[in-house]
Amino acid sequence: MKKILVLPGDGIGPEIVAEAVKVLAWVRDQGMAIEWEEALVGGAAYDETGSPLPEETLEKAKAADAVLLGAVGGPKWEPLDISVRPEKGLLGLRSGLNLFANLRPAILYPQLAEASTLKPEVVAGLDILIVRELTGGIYFGQPRGVRTLENGEREGFNTLVYSESEIRRIGRVAFETARRRNRRLCSVDKANVLECTELWREVMTELAGDYPDVELSHMYVDNAAMQLVRAPRQFDVIVTTNLFGDILSDEAAMLTGSIGMLPSASLNEKGQGMYEPIHGSAPDIAGQGRANPLATILSVAMMLRHSLDAPELADRIEQAVGTVLEAGLRTPDIMQAGAKEVGTAEMGDAVVAALMKK
Ligand code: NAD
Repeated sequence: MKKILVLPGDGIGPEIVAEAVKVLAWVRDQGMAIEWEEALVGGAAYDETGSPLPEETLEKAKAADAVLLGAVGGPKWEPLDISVRPEKGLLGLRSGLNLFANLRPAILYPQLAEASTLKPEVVAGLDILIVRELTGGIYFGQPRGVRTLENGEREGFNTLVYSESEIRRIGRVAFETARRRNRRLCSVDKANVLECTELWREVMTELAGDYPDVELSHMYVDNAAMQLVRAPRQFDVIVTTNLFGDILSDEAAMLTGSIGMLPSASLNEKGQGMYEPIHGSAPDIAGQGRANPLATILSVAMMLRHSLDAPELADRIEQAVGTVLEAGLRTPDIMQAGAKEVGTAEMGDAVVAALMKK
């Protein structure tokens, strides 16, 4: 029996997760042995327990095969001390589960090509996956801080550090992922300036020997940022450091123009994963039934592919999303002239109906 921990969180979190749970029920009806339970995280957990990540939630997450998260945060909790803000719950889950690999697809469904700020012919059919290292690099490197120099001037400093083993393990995830896609991997670094990423490039090149079926290329991060807006379809899988991945994955997501459509996965060495939409808790539309649940539903597809070993069910969910878009259904965030506007639950129901038809 595979166990899933469902964490609705705050804002639109509970609304979009409810639709994803309908899809989980469909998965169970296909004969897959899965069960799920809900727990508290974020502001909702703080209100109830005084902590954005209660011990009980972390223990349940560790015992689960996969975690499905809605979103956390909102204005209500912004005045709180940083140590108990909802976002701390998310960071605690990432470090508690040692989720070192962040996978962020940027897919533009052909039906939504008009939603991008780039020309449709540049982005239509875009399908990129960015593999970002999530637990190392400059965000965690020591020493770090702000110090006062002898002349009284303050100086801020951070350290970019990656060990060979850290590079190798994220590299393996990227090569394996590329293998399941179009077998092209682009490693993004700044090897011309930063020694640390010179090592990154060396280790990636060494690893390529183990994956002769995957074509490895290297690109400097400044060029990658440019190529992503110039000719994004040249990429299949991109692997990069925590800092570069943070920036490039947001850039790639924006190419699609629809934040409510993009899922993500964060994985550890045991294949456990946390799956969540890339967007936040959208407090501006919370409780109105207007949120797009497709990113969360597509997160379930990623879960099936990466943690539950059921790629064929993942394919079917992704196809069902294509079917409802083809039928012209749109939540307000992706509304287009001539389409039919629907709410959160109606969209979720339409995906389940499309799944049932096959
Ligand atoms: P956001 O992603 O919540 O919202 C940005 C814009 O996109 C808003 O206009 C929102 O209405 C819209 N949007 C987002 N998701 C949507 C969806 N599914 N359907 C339709 N429209 C959608 O980002 P923000 O406003 O910067 O942050 C709001 C809160 O979320 C903050 O407290 C922030 O800290 C938190 N946050 C949480 C996560 C997370 O839980 N992983 C990620 C980012 C931000």
